[in-house]
Amino acid sequence: MARAPRILVLGAGPAGLGAALAAEALGADVTLVDALPEPGGQIWRGLWRKDAPGKAGAHFHALRTSGVVLRMGCRIVTAPGPGSLGLIGPHGPEVLSYDRLVLASGARERFLPFPGWTLPGVLGAGALQGLVKGGLEVRGKRVVVAGSGPLLLAVASHLRSQGARVLTVAEQAPNRALVSLIPGLLARPKLLLQALPFLSLPTQAGAWVTRAEGEGRLERVHLNTPKGARVLEADLLACGFGLVPNLDLARLLGCAIHEGAVAVDELQRTSVAGVFAAGESTGIGGVDKALTEGHLAGLAATGLEDEARRHIPAAARSRAWGRALEAAHALRPELRGLATPETMLCRCEDVSVGALQSFARGRDARLHARCGMGRCQGRTCGPAAEFLFGWAPGGPNQPLVPTTFADLVGALSPTEQP
Ligand SMILES: Cc1cc2nc3c(=O)[nH]c(=O)nc-3n(C[C@H](O)[C@H](O)[C@H](O)COP(=O)(O)OP(=O)(O)OC[C@H]3O[C@@H](n4cnc5c(N)ncnc54)[C@H](O)[C@@H]3O)c2cc1C
Repeated sequence: MARAPRILVLGAGPAGLGAALAAEALGADVTLVDALPEPGGQIWRGLWRKDAPGKAGAHFHALRTSGVVLRMGCRIVTAPGPGSLGLIGPHGPEVLSYDRLVLASGARERFLPFPGWTLPGVLGAGALQGLVKGGLEVRGKRVVVAGSGPLLLAVASHLRSQGARVLTVAEQAPNRALVSLIPGLLARPKLLLQALPFLSLPTQAGAWVTRAEGEGRLERVHLNTPKGARVLEADLLACGFGLVPNLDLARLLGCAIHEGAVAVDELQRTSVAGVFAAGESTGIGGVDKALTEGHLAGLAATGLEDEARRHIPAAARSRAWGRALEAAHALRPELRGLATPETMLCRCEDVSVGALQSFARGRDARLHARCGMGRCQGRTCGPAAEFLFGWAPGGPNQPLVPTTFADLVGALSPTEQP
């Protein structure tokens, strides 16, 4: 009897959960790997141990009662050869082999530099939300939320529910761009319902942060608004300029990238045989896109293409909404002028914007100014530099994150092969 295909799913967010559960239900031998300690990805972070309602709870229940092998706290750092990935987990380095791989690596926030962005009290919007979900107290804190994208609204709403005083949500996209989303929202009643609580947030369109100030920590936020300059006294600034797909592993595997996301066909197949991708890694689009694409990828990875094809229209609809959101939140060119030559771009290696202006390519900036060579390996400064200077993204190097030599050797050499 033929053995069940071994399917490795990278990422236990909605896309990875959708893929793992769909594939396991069809009899595949599924392993789900994530660097976080618990499943849920970004949106369902911290809910695994709680009695989570709705889709999160349903997926967690299905996972607990499934045969999916969970490998949490394991970061994929290498791709030693076809059909294998090297990870570093709680028990050290290891190499896992697979017949098919589903990449559901999600996205990360894009930060853009402006004077004062490195002050204590200035955080990524999703990062602050993550800290609050992990127990950080924000009751009574005056918070400015700024940048771009629907995540700002989700974060502001969450912070407010935890007792923070959200002073404003400064969305850089102009009002007319946001209004263009209304017909799409009306056609999606469930989304509309979810968006209703956001209407009571103090949102200002066409507004963006120009400077953060304070003695040793954040005290004031300067904003540019359609009605002129505004200064707000604040304890925290939660700031993010949209999301960018996590592409490191896809690039390392040689998957084609199109317009900043993993290129996939209608069955979520990448350009590399046996490798599928789903969720934010194939383009920013929200939780429904992640779930739908994940489910489709899981079915397709088991080889059940006819069943997978039935979900193509739903995936196409969720992708179309994602594209509409992205277009409405396109970053305005004025944001390229926020940083002064003294503003830090690469925080790990202390490289200022001025020190990079003479370079034509990101690779030169790495080699000559060490931009992107530090702890985060360009995860933070890379997308900002691409936006500011128009540089092409740099190729990923193994290991994907800084690793000790002993761990690297272990994550490159096959050990167990079930
Ligand atoms: C910081 C942040 C906060 C967000 N908060 C919200 C919110 O409050 N509300 C909302 O509606 N949407 C939120 N989003 C958007 C939300 O993540 C998407 O809408 C969608 O749910 C993404 O699902 P996904 O499965 O594609 O990715 P994710 O949920 O991001 O899951 C990807 C997973 O892959 C794992 N991973 C990536 N690379 C590796 C690796 N090399 N090794 C091991 N594991 C790896 C990550 O740890 C992560 O758990 C947030 C996004 C970000 C970046």
